[in-house]
Amino acid sequence: MSKKTPVTIARGDGIGPEIMDAVLHILKEAQAPLEFEEIEIGKKLYEAGHTSGISPSAWESLRRTRIFLKAPITTPQGSGYKSLNVTIRKTLGLYANVRPCVAYPPFVATRHPQMKVTIIRENEEDLYAGIEHRQTDEVTQCLKLITRPGCEKIIRYAFEYARHHGTRKITCMTKDNIMKMTDGLFHAVFNEISAEYPELEKEHLIIDIGAARLADTPERFELIVLPNLYGDILSDIAAQVAGSVGLAPSCNIGDHGAMFEAIHGSAPDIAGLNIANPSGLLLSAVMMLVHIGEAKIAEKIHNAWLKTIEDGFHTKDIFSSHSAHQCGTREFAKEIIARLGASPNKLKPVAYQDGRPASMARAAISSAPSRTARKELIGTDIFLDWKGIPPDELGAKLKTLETPSLQLKMITNRGVKVWPEGLPETFCTDHWRCRFVRTQTGSPAKSADIIELLDKLSKAGLNFIKLENLYDFDGIPGYSLGQGQ
Ligand code: NAD
Repeated sequence: MSKKTPVTIARGDGIGPEIMDAVLHILKEAQAPLEFEEIEIGKKLYEAGHTSGISPSAWESLRRTRIFLKAPITTPQGSGYKSLNVTIRKTLGLYANVRPCVAYPPFVATRHPQMKVTIIRENEEDLYAGIEHRQTDEVTQCLKLITRPGCEKIIRYAFEYARHHGTRKITCMTKDNIMKMTDGLFHAVFNEISAEYPELEKEHLIIDIGAARLADTPERFELIVLPNLYGDILSDIAAQVAGSVGLAPSCNIGDHGAMFEAIHGSAPDIAGLNIANPSGLLLSAVMMLVHIGEAKIAEKIHNAWLKTIEDGFHTKDIFSSHSAHQCGTREFAKEIIARLGASPNKLKPVAYQDGRPASMARAAISSAPSRTARKELIGTDIFLDWKGIPPDELGAKLKTLETPSLQLKMITNRGVKVWPEGLPETFCTDHWRCRFVRTQTGSPAKSADIIELLDKLSKAGLNFIKLENLYDFDGIPGYSLGQGQ
């Protein structure tokens, strides 16, 4: 018998314990060579004062086993709590979130019987950096961070995944017609890495039309790679369109570990009733087995599950006219166990390759060191909290505060240019971006110039709340030019 792989498990909240029990029962009967270490997470831990829902001692197990099979938890409402999932993903560097969304016609009702889409979502960056500020009475902001190494890792991961799984087509979605620098970087890296995979068909869609097409004709997609927020939204749409969020598994993969969980939540409305569907967590455990190199056991469990679905043994959430027997959570697990070794006749059986498809080619995925560009300071955007004054008056005041090195170029409000030559119809808040640029092209601006300018603004009673310096990188502006320019 092969050596057992240590796996950290957590039963979670709500339906978590009952679906975890069902999954552990199936894993045991399938003789999966796993050794479980249990940790506590979720509601109890939040209530005990751990703001992330996990205790320091649980990290020790996670860092040692590096494999986590997690049942859903109940996230408390309120601003004092942090998302456990975001904490785990960021702390362990789980940069890739993989969610296969598959239809099982006619056994699970779906309007899209041909659907088989895998969503690969970037997991660590974007608006999920959680850097938010209230800057004025009227304005709050959230920083959207997209990095080149982050894009390279997730996009290369997606291409390697496609190659490993025999995918023919890969789609990237962004909103780079609006966010030209952040989403533009994601799209540019997609184009760069595309060239290394000539056998694959590639496309890029703007996220809005892409989401509409995914909801309408999901059959046209095979694998979609996206930045964090779009991936979060689209993967739930895809799982629901495929048939049920109760069936969809997911894995979170990084260089130092992996976490496997169903995409649904803790379903407190049906907790303890023995009616929850354990399929999402079970199929996540199947992904885990493939990840740790137990492809044959993964295949055995997955095919037994497909046969159970095909034979019409269904939990309440997917029970329909194609079902033969309505099962409880425990009974459903027993039906799967009874079919271990069997294959489906109508649904396509799965065949997993030995190896680690979910984490393949780590060396290839690690990003190359970024090239250092020639970076030149050419000015600064100073954000002011300023109330009740027309833009022209603010412009006139700021003109008097220019320094010999920095001159006022424009003022925008919520990104719309309001000085010079703004329109009176433009609605303005108390948050003004004032762009100062160097007076002499050719000689770079200096930090001391900006400090001199800030000092003048401060002495004039202007309340600056934030500064963003303007740099050219190898002569190319590293900042948006602003609407209306
Ligand atoms: P939910 O996914 O728990 O439930 C939505 C609906 O789907 C409910 O009607 C529920 O009964 C049903 N459902 C979900 N899973 C099912 C299953 N396996 N079998 C049968 N029916 C199922 O979403 P929610 O109600 O918005 O959230 C409940 C709690 O779960 C919240 O505290 C939320 O923060 C948390 N949550 C946790 C995770 C996680 O731990 N990964 C993910 C999402 C939500």
